[in-house]
Amino acid sequence: MDHSIKARIEAGEKLSREEAVQLLETPVGSREYYELLYLANQYSRKAFEEKGLIFAQMGLDMQPCGVNCKFCSMAKDSMCGKESFIRSLEEVAEEAKALADTDIQDLFLMTTAQFSQELFLEYGKAVRAVLPPDMRLVANIADFDAEYAQKLKEAGFTGVYHICRLREGIDTGAKLEDRVRTMNAVKNAGLELYYCVEPIGPEHTNEELADEMVRVHDYPVGVMAVMKRTAVPGTPLAEKGEISAARLALICAVATLTARPPRAMCVHEPGELCLMTGANQLYAELGSNPRDTEKDTRDGRGFSIDDARNMLKKMQWGVKSR
Ligand code: SF4
Repeated sequence: MDHSIKARIEAGEKLSREEAVQLLETPVGSREYYELLYLANQYSRKAFEEKGLIFAQMGLDMQPCGVNCKFCSMAKDSMCGKESFIRSLEEVAEEAKALADTDIQDLFLMTTAQFSQELFLEYGKAVRAVLPPDMRLVANIADFDAEYAQKLKEAGFTGVYHICRLREGIDTGAKLEDRVRTMNAVKNAGLELYYCVEPIGPEHTNEELADEMVRVHDYPVGVMAVMKRTAVPGTPLAEKGEISAARLALICAVATLTARPPRAMCVHEPGELCLMTGANQLYAELGSNPRDTEKDTRDGRGFSIDDARNMLKKMQWGVKSR
């Protein structure tokens, strides 16, 4: 590994875009590869005090989504006549109440871009009412403006998952400038922004990945993540395949050392190797999911809270309780 980059990592500096690109070129399995994994693991074990975190994400609807992302099972062109639905407010509040009694730290409510903004606020308020005050509530929804960011806060949300996805506007129908505008609205409202480099496929260049890793330097991001693209059958990008677990571990290490997130580092899909190279946080998932074709991802690929806890323990992470 380049001596000056290593010195900056050991001094606790965040990496630049150029340094991230250089490290992403590290050959998998080389001495430098393991050194990089070691440095990322060392950062996380210390920063997160050997504790792993479990978040839960609930998908509220499955509707043909006009943003039409080429990797998503709910995109308009990939729904292919699958049944649409919106989970009832009562059902969602009930699920949230059950989750409040578990050891999850943060609860995310996720929708397609078709979901009504006003209705989402009602769901948020109903869920907030059944959560303990110290549990973070996070929105994962379509783009919005400054006024709506304020409304999310008033409804009881503490944060927002919002990102510029890889090849936004090419592989998705969203505009990069709208994504940035929303992220700025989140920051200006004093909400916590959750960020992720995603969805990573074999065709993405190191430069594209590094651009998203350093974007968090402009925002107060507590939780960073990396996510590989799942090849969902019936979606246009499925034919490009998936990156290897070894490549995801390298990306996870570089993202960890570039962002140096203070609260947690997440990996999607959950993977043991990444828990040894920077990641300490996993999601349990329920309801609809862009990476699944099941109505409820618990019947498909979604991890349960027990799955997440067991994987964390297996890789010698304690599980943080609230
Ligand atoms: S990923 Fe989200 S925005 Fe894109 S098509 Fe799927 S539901 Fe819509």
